[in-house]
Amino acid sequence: MQDLPPIQSREMMGLKDILPINHLHVIYIAIHLVALSIVWSGFTWLGVSLCLVSYFGRHLGLVAGYHRYFAHRSFKTSRLMQFFLALHGSLCAERGPLWWGQTHRLHHRYSDTPNDIHSPYYQGFLYSHSGWFLNHKFLKTNYEQIPEFAKFPELVWLDRFNMIPLFTFAASMFYFFGWEGFAWGFCLSTVMIWHTTHTIQSLCHCFGGYRNFQTSDSSRNFWLFGVIALGDGFHNNHHYEPSSARHGFVWWEIDIAWYILKFLSWFGLVWELKTPKKWMKNKSSNLDKVLDKVTKNDASSGE
Ligand SMILES: [Zn+2]
Ligand SMILES: [Zn+2]
Repeated sequence: MQDLPPIQSREMMGLKDILPINHLHVIYIAIHLVALSIVWSGFTWLGVSLCLVSYFGRHLGLVAGYHRYFAHRSFKTSRLMQFFLALHGSLCAERGPLWWGQTHRLHHRYSDTPNDIHSPYYQGFLYSHSGWFLNHKFLKTNYEQIPEFAKFPELVWLDRFNMIPLFTFAASMFYFFGWEGFAWGFCLSTVMIWHTTHTIQSLCHCFGGYRNFQTSDSSRNFWLFGVIALGDGFHNNHHYEPSSARHGFVWWEIDIAWYILKFLSWFGLVWELKTPKKWMKNKSSNLDKVLDKVTKNDASSGE
């Protein structure tokens, strides 16, 4: 890992980029406030069920679609399925698929350097958590950074009008389940999705967790968070092998998005899933060394 400056309060620096307050901040805060309103409206099993189904159901589109497909091209799929993945991810209120993929590529290119768009070391914890997401300077998609997908007009259209499926989803939750559906099923689950993604960008580059690999950045894995984030919380593994569709490398690093992608591959809906080749190669070469040593020892003790 490179020498990094201490994490310190640089929020004022980040704040300068976020201000002035615009419609983006108002919507972001309003959704948080509605999510908080469940404290007054009270706990219901229907509300909890809607929230969990909406969180895990929608989040899969972000993890498998936006992250592993559009940002990293870690598997292949058909044009129709590609659009479906983009549509699915757009329900997570994290803008369009090309915007997401393009900004995330920038993060990998400059991880934990002064050019990283969200590094807790250079811009402060809160800015790397959610401040950068509210920075109006990053609102536009730079299609040159994601040319292989920007050539599809339907993806460019969805990237531009990503609010249409999102509003449709929010309105459906209200129409079918009333205020409970809107507050629990849309707002609270959206806040949970946002902060899961934000935590990967802040905490997963700061402290705690564990590091399997000496990457040049400060990425780390968190077991419980890895499971909740459908596998994306094994962030050190991911920075070690960004193109791998699998983020949990050992059996106990539960990577739900990977299991689902594997399942879809059995039906031919996705294919050529990339595996962590570098890790597997190193692992097998270490194993070879151990086996070699054991064989030599056995041979010498037998003499
Ligand atoms: Zn990262
Ligand atoms: Zn990534």
